[in-house]
Amino acid sequence: TGVVRDIRNQINNKITQLPLGFFSEERKGDIIARISGDVNEIENSIMSSLDMLFKNPILIFIYLTGMILISWQLTVFVLVLLPLAGYIMGQVGKKLKRKSLLGQQQWGDLMSQIEETLSGLRIIKAFNAESKIRNRFEKSNDIFRRTTMKIYRRQQMAHPMSEFLGTATIVIVLWYGGTLILANNSPIDAPTFIYYLVIFYSIINPAKDLSKSVYAIQKGLASMERVDKILKAESDINDPIDPKPISLQKQIEYKNVWFKYQNDWVLKNVNLTIPKGKTVALVGQSGSGKSTLVDLLPRFYDVNEGSITIDGTDIRESTLYDLRGLMGNVNQEAILFNDSFFNNISFGVKNATLEQVKEAARIANAHEFIMASEQGYETNIGDRGGKLSGGQRQRISIARAILKNPPILILDEATSALDTESERYIQAALDNLSRDRSTLVIAHRLSTIENADRILVVDEGRIIEQGTHAELIARGGAYAMLCQTQFGDTA
Ligand code: ADP
Ligand code: MG
Repeated sequence: TGVVRDIRNQINNKITQLPLGFFSEERKGDIIARISGDVNEIENSIMSSLDMLFKNPILIFIYLTGMILISWQLTVFVLVLLPLAGYIMGQVGKKLKRKSLLGQQQWGDLMSQIEETLSGLRIIKAFNAESKIRNRFEKSNDIFRRTTMKIYRRQQMAHPMSEFLGTATIVIVLWYGGTLILANNSPIDAPTFIYYLVIFYSIINPAKDLSKSVYAIQKGLASMERVDKILKAESDINDPIDPKPISLQKQIEYKNVWFKYQNDWVLKNVNLTIPKGKTVALVGQSGSGKSTLVDLLPRFYDVNEGSITIDGTDIRESTLYDLRGLMGNVNQEAILFNDSFFNNISFGVKNATLEQVKEAARIANAHEFIMASEQGYETNIGDRGGKLSGGQRQRISIARAILKNPPILILDEATSALDTESERYIQAALDNLSRDRSTLVIAHRLSTIENADRILVVDEGRIIEQGTHAELIARGGAYAMLCQTQFGDTA
């Protein structure tokens, strides 16, 4: 139990360490299957190997010694036979491992579907897709069942087979012993031979158990392989060996930054500076690379070429902990935890007091609706904040950033999903928040960024225009066009 507890801890630690990029290749359900099902397989396997390591070898050793004492000729003969039987059993075991690997993969697939169903229930119901989801699940479930059946069949087949092999060995020993007794100057007489057979028969059971545990171990090894895929995964975003301290006094600078997720360049030769305390806004079509650009700053991903520096220090030269300590994020999708208001707001800060949390909530315009809830700050907000409205969730995530009080603020479409009424509240909260901070803001509604110190227009991974609102309007380029489509005129 201690070993599997440690494995579970290790998987969980690894999950928190691996970069975001790792998980875009993996499915959540499959990772859950690894930490539950596969770890259980490993536990079974450990239990069997304990049997195998301690009980059975001791029994076999004692019986074997007895047999050698009675007749070494017969025993040598037996020792030649046993490995042969062992080899045959081993072949069955190998196939079992392959099947077991497949079974665990299919189990992971089932878990992924359940995870997806749970988080997508609202859409599944809205689109009348229950039967589609049910069919998909039943199909995968059936495939899984067939694999499991093959595994069980193989495992159970092993039993009559080892029975047969055991009996066959006894027959052969009987025959060989018989010829020994009948021979002239026989080394063994008939009563001793019967005695010998009784001991030999007793050795068969532990030997069979031994082979059974070999199967359990094969299954465990298959699961270990899957768990290892997470545990042995290399993180390509690491702390440097000799980290430098990092702080923001002057400016953040992107220099000739190129970045791609897979094959196509998503950012092409991006240059930009954000002086301390200023607000820089990014606008542009969806898919142009704005989110990617701001994700590079906390090193969710690393640049492929070029560099990002804070006060001249490359962000790759400091620790991730120090770097991310400088930043607060508010995203389009407020990511909250199934916990109280208090714990959600104080998430990024150690030992926050209720007073500080209240203050942050006030600035974020969240205090009033929190106090109106049943247990105030101790009210649970449901899974991912499901008991709150979109605007309320957003204000909680802003309060969380306010409490952290970071010198750098990253706002990725923090207000896009909201109605104008909540937006007004939140905009006020954000204006409070970004005062005296270096702020990188992405906004769909251009009205929210008119006052930014600098506006950059991003198009297909390049910055094609920059300047203040007035400058860009006067220029009559891409930004002026965007404004025109949004406001109807360039007021
Ligand atoms: P924006 O925020 O401007 O709407 P994004 O930065 O989110 O745009 O996306 C820019 C491009 O990168 C898009 O073409 C998108 O398909 C691609 N992209 C975004 N995230 C990933 C990812 N995790 N893996 C692969 N491609 C991605
Ligand atoms: Mg985006």
